[in-house]
Amino acid sequence: MAVTLSPQDRADISSARTAGVLADLAPEKFDFHAGVIAILCPDGDQTEKRTHLEALVASQNGDKRVHLITQHGAALSLSASSPLSNPSLFLPDLLDDVARNRSRLFKVVAFLLRPLVWLMGWMGRRNIQILANLWAAIRMKQIKTIVLYIHAPCGAADHCGVSFRDELLHLIKAKRRIEWWLGYMGIKVACFCHVDYGAGKKKTYFIKTRSTEDWLGDPLRCSEGANGVNGVSRPDATVNSTADSNM
Ligand SMILES: [Zn+2]
Repeated sequence: MAVTLSPQDRADISSARTAGVLADLAPEKFDFHAGVIAILCPDGDQTEKRTHLEALVASQNGDKRVHLITQHGAALSLSASSPLSNPSLFLPDLLDDVARNRSRLFKVVAFLLRPLVWLMGWMGRRNIQILANLWAAIRMKQIKTIVLYIHAPCGAADHCGVSFRDELLHLIKAKRRIEWWLGYMGIKVACFCHVDYGAGKKKTYFIKTRSTEDWLGDPLRCSEGANGVNGVSRPDATVNSTADSNM
């Protein structure tokens, strides 16, 4: 069943619009001439995300050079504290589903394997996998512009109990994490959000980082976000400065 925006999510989106967190896209502010690496959720009901980004890149590059890194939740999984980065939250459910219509022996073995599957999920942190994929993509393609593209409502986020406000929290953590780890490669990171309001009304916004940090307040400032990972300041904090300090 398709997920829809909750009343709280709608109120937070409205608040974020008023606070300037979600801004109208101004394509001329981005440098997409060499293409982009896009980290986005593969939701088949929101394919506008991809076609819209391809059109933006093609308007500058002349070609739809969008290198995709995609999995459920995608950019939201890059935050180390995000529930979406932790497969142990859903791998045991997968095992239960597989065992449901099997033999009694299969069910017993599956039950005994539950702790092992949980441990495998806990150790296979998705934020590390995506970060490694991103690093490899930058090296392979020599593309220095990265777009973190979230959407709301997001089925993967909803499955993990992540609200729209939490989506923004983990998105900014993800951006800061990328800058901390890969800033030495001369990258720029932009954040987009696609909102499906229902009844056919959909819109893509640019997310202003500083405004989002102000809007979110203390929960973000006490985290890995503003002060680097685990409180360690980013060594190359000036590498990613852009004309738009809110990028
Ligand atoms: Zn999604």
